[in-house]
Amino acid sequence: KYFMNTNELIEAEDKYFINTFARQPIVLDHGKGVKVWDKDGNEYIDMFAGIAVNALGHAHPKLVNALQGQVEKLIHVSNIYYNEPAIEYAKKLLPLTEFDRLFYANSGAEANEGAIKLALKYTGKSEIITAKDSFHGRTLLTLAATGHEEYREPYLKNLPQGFIEVPYNDIEAIKEAISDETAAIMLEPIQGEGGVNVPSKKYFDEIAEICAEKDILLILDEVQTGFGRCGTLFAHELFDIKADIMTIAKGVGGGVPMGAFLATEKVAGGFAPGDHGTTFGGGPLVCAAANAVLDTILDEDLLENSKKVGAYFKDKLNELKEKHDKIVDVRGHGLMIGVELSESGAGYVDKLREMGFLINCTAGNV
Ligand code: PLP
Repeated sequence: KYFMNTNELIEAEDKYFINTFARQPIVLDHGKGVKVWDKDGNEYIDMFAGIAVNALGHAHPKLVNALQGQVEKLIHVSNIYYNEPAIEYAKKLLPLTEFDRLFYANSGAEANEGAIKLALKYTGKSEIITAKDSFHGRTLLTLAATGHEEYREPYLKNLPQGFIEVPYNDIEAIKEAISDETAAIMLEPIQGEGGVNVPSKKYFDEIAEICAEKDILLILDEVQTGFGRCGTLFAHELFDIKADIMTIAKGVGGGVPMGAFLATEKVAGGFAPGDHGTTFGGGPLVCAAANAVLDTILDEDLLENSKKVGAYFKDKLNELKEKHDKIVDVRGHGLMIGVELSESGAGYVDKLREMGFLINCTAGNV
């Protein structure tokens, strides 16, 4: 079946791919539930879940069946026509949120790109306040919104303008950054890539007040925090706040590439026919997957499971923290858990992989 072994595959990739990923030296082959196997037959517990994408684990029968059924029926149609899985999904998802309308995209970056365009168009203003250490994507617009100078640096002359970066979880910094041109504040409810940073409820309460008072939109990037990762369908439920626009991707399709931005009726009105578009977004195949993922999360009570398993995990990690000075902090909600170390985490990723656990290190030491 295979025409190359692990080493040959890795060598071939090194030769043919544009070199952008620092990959781990294994070739994953298949998965089932929480487990994955590499080409050499080694088994791993997958705690990385495709960077928060495999919300149902690997090869969940409901997701597999939904995809197989849809593949035989219709894979793609132009957005010139209506398709049932896309409409069914919107009708199912939106009532579970504070939003009234959505637009389908193909990734987190694209969802954020659309959300930013909508906020600018709706308000007619030009500035968006974003947070240091945030991550919103790799397109030029979402890079401009992303709080990592090192990613933006090579493109400074070509980056879209108007993003004002402030420290996260710092309400005074937001107040100082507001101007007559402020269209929106754009935040992750919990920063993922930035190091699993959990802000205070007070922070979001005050943001809600400021937004209401100054007529500023709140855009929440739930690309990484959505679909049960934090023990609630969306992480901002933990803070009991509402937004004007929310973006989703990653877990929404359980592994198929899909994203969306959701907006209130009022803000959605900022776009008219022709203002935005996509070829693939909202196709029947990915929407069939999204329907299966959401149904399964609800039917199998996976939000409760995320809370329960996450709490167990955090307890055990806190026990380790008592014993080891190198563990500085254990934080997060549900199954989005960060362990901050007093040293680089890279060696731990390698060691755990060798022991059969796939994890990730973010922000250098989390
Ligand atoms: N927003 C957040 C919070 C993310 O974590 C990511 C990816 O890690 C993105 C946006 C970008 O998503 P994508 O890689 O699908 O473009």
